[in-house]
Amino acid sequence: MTDQNVMIEISDLTKIYGLLPVLKSLDLTIYQGEFVALLGPNGSGKSTLLRLMSGLSKPSQGTIRIGGWEIPSEAMAVRAQIGMVSHKPLLYENLTAYENLNFFAKLYNLSAEVRETRIAELLRQVGLHKRADSLVRTFSRGMQQRLSIARALIHEPDVLFFDEPYTGLDQDAGDMLYGLLKDAHNTQRTIIMTTHQLQRVPQLATRAIILSRGKIAYQDNVEQLSANELATIYTQATGVASTR
Ligand code: ADP
Ligand code: MG
Repeated sequence: MTDQNVMIEISDLTKIYGLLPVLKSLDLTIYQGEFVALLGPNGSGKSTLLRLMSGLSKPSQGTIRIGGWEIPSEAMAVRAQIGMVSHKPLLYENLTAYENLNFFAKLYNLSAEVRETRIAELLRQVGLHKRADSLVRTFSRGMQQRLSIARALIHEPDVLFFDEPYTGLDQDAGDMLYGLLKDAHNTQRTIIMTTHQLQRVPQLATRAIILSRGKIAYQDNVEQLSANELATIYTQATGVASTR
């Protein structure tokens, strides 16, 4: 496999809420192993695009293919290969960390043996192995975020969507997230992450896509850019100062 395998193919994608066009005829190709930072002002459609790609919302027009499967007609097959971390932790507060992961692992039909191994491994990776048997409602926002990440990785998806994963995390949790994102990227996963923290982008992402007024206002490789250069590009593309 090469980096040039197409993982996500979006064509003429349009999303209209009522009379409000949020995404206007978007075309976009994302290759296997890319780490895409999806940027843009509040309301520019970043979360909408992630929700469309994860089959949680239906396009008004246009097509999305992930790993060769089409959304929404083959949404089940698509869901098996994606993991999503959104603003909402999507966890059961009255279950323990272990029970949460076990529940989702069962949804993906993982065998008992695989579940045990993978849950133990993931809890260690996100630094929650000592809290495996604590109820999620006793967890801080950072701990819940870490568990959400473990949940998103439980079925070893090829594609990961992160919607503002840094929001609400303290420095330590942010550093841990950085390590997890790097690991996921190093294992050839395709990652799309929205964020307002432009300083994180060149360290992590290979490509930045800036949405503005329902269209892609800018996209390019960002590995060689400084955070300041990216902030300037962002302001030019959106007409809005970046919040950094
Ligand atoms: P971002 O994540 O970039 O801040 P969103 O994708 O959340 O932007 O929202 C884009 C636009 O779509 C906003 O104007 C928002 O109010 C609108 N929107 C998002 N979800 C819905 C919905 N379920 N119903 C109606 N409007 C929505
Ligand atoms: Mg959003």
